[in-house]
Amino acid sequence: MTEQPIQLQKLHGKVAIVTGAASGIGAVTARHFADHGARVVVIADVQDAKGQEVATSIGSHRCTYVHCDVTDEDQVESLVDSTVEKYGQLDVMYSNAGITASSVQKVLVLDLSWFDKVMEVNARGMAACVKHAARAMVGKGVRGSIVCTASIVAECGMMGGTDYTMSKHAVLGLVRSASVQLAARWVRVNCVSPGLVGTPLLSETFKLREEELKEMMTAVYSESSDGPLTEKHVADAVVFLVSEDSAFVTGHNLVVDGGFGTKFLSILKP
Ligand code: NAD
Repeated sequence: MTEQPIQLQKLHGKVAIVTGAASGIGAVTARHFADHGARVVVIADVQDAKGQEVATSIGSHRCTYVHCDVTDEDQVESLVDSTVEKYGQLDVMYSNAGITASSVQKVLVLDLSWFDKVMEVNARGMAACVKHAARAMVGKGVRGSIVCTASIVAECGMMGGTDYTMSKHAVLGLVRSASVQLAARWVRVNCVSPGLVGTPLLSETFKLREEELKEMMTAVYSESSDGPLTEKHVADAVVFLVSEDSAFVTGHNLVVDGGFGTKFLSILKP
């Protein structure tokens, strides 16, 4: 991706935060925001070295890294407050940080300590980000836009990953509630639901090495004329949702799976 000509920039002058941006979908989306003219993109994560690296590669004049563990509400509040203090406003929050289940997590053998961890990041952390971003937007004269990363498993069940699936269903509840509550306050809240994307989270989920991950992606998307789903496809959908192109869209779950989500669910037998 390269910087768009100014007339094509959808986020010109905006101040944005992206959580979980040291890697995968978040990192690519942060770069896409900058390419679309965002005045500043604050990337937040717990992987400091990788986060700094992503920020530097995007450019220190328009991207900065902040350590923020989304499970700690004080850190989320401080991330939002320091952004507003430094850059004058917050227009966009892309709440994307997430983790996967550590094991199969079928209901008969559900490890509840991992269940708590997954819910803490994927559901509670997402709620903290939406809460504090909305508080920074309401009544501040900005047309705020918040997008959360859910998943295609937010709409169905899987053979494993019970806790992960539950956490992503919770994201839909959060987005639907927040969108109704904030509609009259100039803040839109939507979510994006990717199908399988070949990120570190995916290799961790299925304990796959790089080659095996590629093979799985090729199998899932074998009928796609465009190849596998990538981070860029998701980033394009997020840019649409945070930009004025979707000015009257709120409470929506935008599925980005190329139509192959069902195939993925039938292939995987965790
Ligand atoms: P990834 O592992 O590459 O990125 C996730 C990032 O979140 C990492 O940089 C990680 O350090 C960060 N993170 C984890 N816990 C955190 C915390 N407590 N505080 C702050 N940051 C934290 O994975 P990804 O695939 O890019 O995942 C991004 C989002 O997309 C996640 O919410 C994931 O559930 C969702 N998703 C991924 C896929 C897929 O197939 N990869 C599909 C659907 C949804």
